[in-house]
Amino acid sequence: MAALDIERADFLKDEDILIFEDSVARFFAEHAPPERVEKWRRDGIVERAMWREAGGAGLLCLSVPEQYGGQGGDFRHEAILAEQISRRQVSGFAASLHNAIVAPYILHYGSDEQKKRWLPKMASGEFIGAIAMTEPGAGSDLQGVRTTARLDGNHYVIDGQKTFISNGQLADLVIVVAKTDPSKGAKGTSLIVVETADASGFHRGRNLDKIGMEAQDTSELFFDDVRVRTSNLLGPQEGMGFVQLMQQLPQERLTIGVSGVAVMERALDLTIAYAKERKAFGQRLIDFQNTQFKLAECKTEATVARVFIDRLIGLHLEGKLDAATASMAKYWVSDLECKIVDTCLQLFGGYGYMNEYPIARMFRDSRVQRIYGGANEIMKVLIARAL
Ligand SMILES: Cc1cc2nc3c(=O)[nH]c(=O)nc-3n(C[C@H](O)[C@H](O)[C@H](O)COP(=O)(O)OP(=O)(O)OC[C@H]3O[C@@H](n4cnc5c(N)ncnc54)[C@H](O)[C@@H]3O)c2cc1C
Repeated sequence: MAALDIERADFLKDEDILIFEDSVARFFAEHAPPERVEKWRRDGIVERAMWREAGGAGLLCLSVPEQYGGQGGDFRHEAILAEQISRRQVSGFAASLHNAIVAPYILHYGSDEQKKRWLPKMASGEFIGAIAMTEPGAGSDLQGVRTTARLDGNHYVIDGQKTFISNGQLADLVIVVAKTDPSKGAKGTSLIVVETADASGFHRGRNLDKIGMEAQDTSELFFDDVRVRTSNLLGPQEGMGFVQLMQQLPQERLTIGVSGVAVMERALDLTIAYAKERKAFGQRLIDFQNTQFKLAECKTEATVARVFIDRLIGLHLEGKLDAATASMAKYWVSDLECKIVDTCLQLFGGYGYMNEYPIARMFRDSRVQRIYGGANEIMKVLIARAL
């Protein structure tokens, strides 16, 4: 640790957390070496085998209780995993989405039968999870979702189209946001689980071509009269979907903030090392006052972000993280992440624009952090509402 690196919060320094962090780092060093990650980027998808490997190593469903096949951990474990994925630029491997975003809906709103049916498979990597909120005509304004789930005996018949769905090509289990009563708007929205293997009428569309996160299979999904049992509804009754989303989105937004800080720190480490080596006009880049000031500013801001995020992890562990504060983390950290990565890239000069340099990929991968999980403008709407 350099003199300037302030210590992590105490709850992140417990011995079992440090041991876990070390084991996650070793897992990625072994299972996600650069050449394998590069292949995933070329293929536009992470190998399914990687999910089984992560499941076998105990990295999936970290905060799901052991009785449902999970690791019995808490959000600290999810945060460590998200940080390691960001630091090692394995951004296509959406384990944090699977663990900290999809699984919690089942854990918190599923019946005991549903939890036993789905969570052990998600923990082993046999089932890869996705959540399908966004549609071509409804992203920020989720009340405008047009996908419907019509009751027919003991089945729902799902019709609609989703887009930008992470893990879209791989997903075995998709939580679909659908209107069970279109006349009721938000109050007629429900979350319904679709197991893709035997879902007639379910089709995967394009694996979308993105400017970053190339290894992530962000996709279109189509539902044409897909019949699922009513027992796949999450929650005790229809119409709970919006409330469930509002309760779970803060964790998603905090996770985005956690990743953002990890990226800033890695960008700074790489740039400081580069600036100490690279020479121009007979001196090292770090010897120019402009370089020193830029890096001093970035280091200060990244440190403030680290303190803020660790504090929010603490609040979340105590069950006290509210929607507006999580929105602050999501918007402010992702904006700062993009700013810092851009500043760092500039110090790499032309090399910063070359894909073989990690800073170039960070630049492209970071951009989406300001958009997904709710665009940053929506975060400000949520914060403003709480003023
Ligand atoms: C790589 C990637 C992965 C994703 N993964 C998933 C996933 O797994 N599941 C899923 O459901 N979705 C996913 N998304 C979708 C993502 O959450 C949406 O793109 C996002 O919520 C914005 O919705 P939109 O694209 O429809 O933009 P729009 O709603 O059309 O908004 C466009 C822009 O308009 C502005 N804007 C919108 N509303 C307001 C407002 N009220 N006030 C001020 N400005 C406003 C903002 O600048 C916003 O960025 C993913 C997206 C990407 C790019």
